[in-house]
Amino acid sequence: MDDIFVYTSFTTSNCYIVTPNRSDGITYVIDLPPDLEPVLNYIKQENLSIGGALLTHGHFDHCLGMGSFDGSIYIDLNDEQLARNPEEQLKSFVGLNLESITFDGELNEVNQLDTKELVVHSNPGHTKGSTSFEFPGIGVIFTGDFIFKDGIGRTDLSTGDTNEMIHSINNVFTKFNNDYILYPGHGDKDTVKSIKNNNILVKEYLND
Ligand SMILES: [Zn+2]
Repeated sequence: MDDIFVYTSFTTSNCYIVTPNRSDGITYVIDLPPDLEPVLNYIKQENLSIGGALLTHGHFDHCLGMGSFDGSIYIDLNDEQLARNPEEQLKSFVGLNLESITFDGELNEVNQLDTKELVVHSNPGHTKGSTSFEFPGIGVIFTGDFIFKDGIGRTDLSTGDTNEMIHSINNVFTKFNNDYILYPGHGDKDTVKSIKNNNILVKEYLND
């Protein structure tokens, strides 16, 4: 079993199953895409115990699987409305043919989870409640749609804000450990250092 299992949804979002401590087998699921079944199958097959789902933000391609997830779900509650009501978002993705499900289960405030083992970073910009999750024990950070290998998240969608994005890049991203591997919400992983050196949009926004 790997520390990190990656499942890429048909929506192109990445879902990660993270088991930071093999000894306790407690697993966190980063984001819940609509097509969650392969993820649930993996958890079952590997006999993992679910610590909870950590949502990087409230967009449907990261949240629409909430209804099929059996465990606690954590999100920055600034994104609760987005996550519960995907209808507006789905209107702009006419090609996807996804059912708009209003989620009425429980959502927990993710910022309460901040510990030494799991560091929760609030990085608004893509959405108000955008969050990154760092696991220092295995040297990884999950950034959702905040920072990608070659780009950054859009700021023109509902609750997005370019000034907040610039602030988050300068005050959150720059503090990430250079040696850590960054796993984004879409596309490939890379080291923080390499992204700092090569990501043109990040470089443009630094000290803007
Ligand atoms: Zn998004």
